[in-house]
Amino acid sequence: MACMAGHEKTEDPLLHLEEEDGSELWQEHAKALRTWDDLSLMQWTNQVLCQLHERSWRASHPFVMSYRLALTVIQQRDLWSRRLVSMSSHYQPAECCGAPSIPLVSHDICKYGLYCSNCGTELAELAGFPPGIVKTFNAWGAAYETYHQVAHWPDDKRRKKDDYEAAMETAREKALPLLSQLGFSLAPRFLEFYPAVFWEDGDDCLDIIPEDLTPPDK
Ligand SMILES: [Zn+2]
Repeated sequence: MACMAGHEKTEDPLLHLEEEDGSELWQEHAKALRTWDDLSLMQWTNQVLCQLHERSWRASHPFVMSYRLALTVIQQRDLWSRRLVSMSSHYQPAECCGAPSIPLVSHDICKYGLYCSNCGTELAELAGFPPGIVKTFNAWGAAYETYHQVAHWPDDKRRKKDDYEAAMETAREKALPLLSQLGFSLAPRFLEFYPAVFWEDGDDCLDIIPEDLTPPDK
């Protein structure tokens, strides 16, 4: 996923199944969906959209993964614009790509805003939300960046530090509860503005995977 520390935005591998690492596996998964006719695919996708409605979801949730995979096939067949089946009434089409407008909240939200969960472009910038939300996320982002940027130390700084691996491990430990907070507590605030929300439950730079993140009540 994209990083804040002086890096250009990169795309989520899930969003670009043709190009990124792991795409062969996703192409294999997508084969099942490619055998479906247009109508079946759209009806199935609308059914999933109804199940996703009014909740904030981990991006790794199987419903979300399956839905996003179906979207890539829908996109390739240009089915949203053909209006074969109207989109679930809970959702509005995103301006960027016409897919249902569902934001993907990630750790770089303060820099890149909310991503479109289909095409990965900016769905909305953070500054456009009410001041209370902007303030909360900016405070979160500043805290998270303190740790995330350790993964992007320049080589000379890594050499000066006695034990860069220990610094990375500390950063990772500090970042874990913050990323859980982003997903489980903060991302649902966007349900006030969107019918469903996805949040990126990992951080490649700090080697954080979905299994590392647990809800606050656990
Ligand atoms: Zn889009």
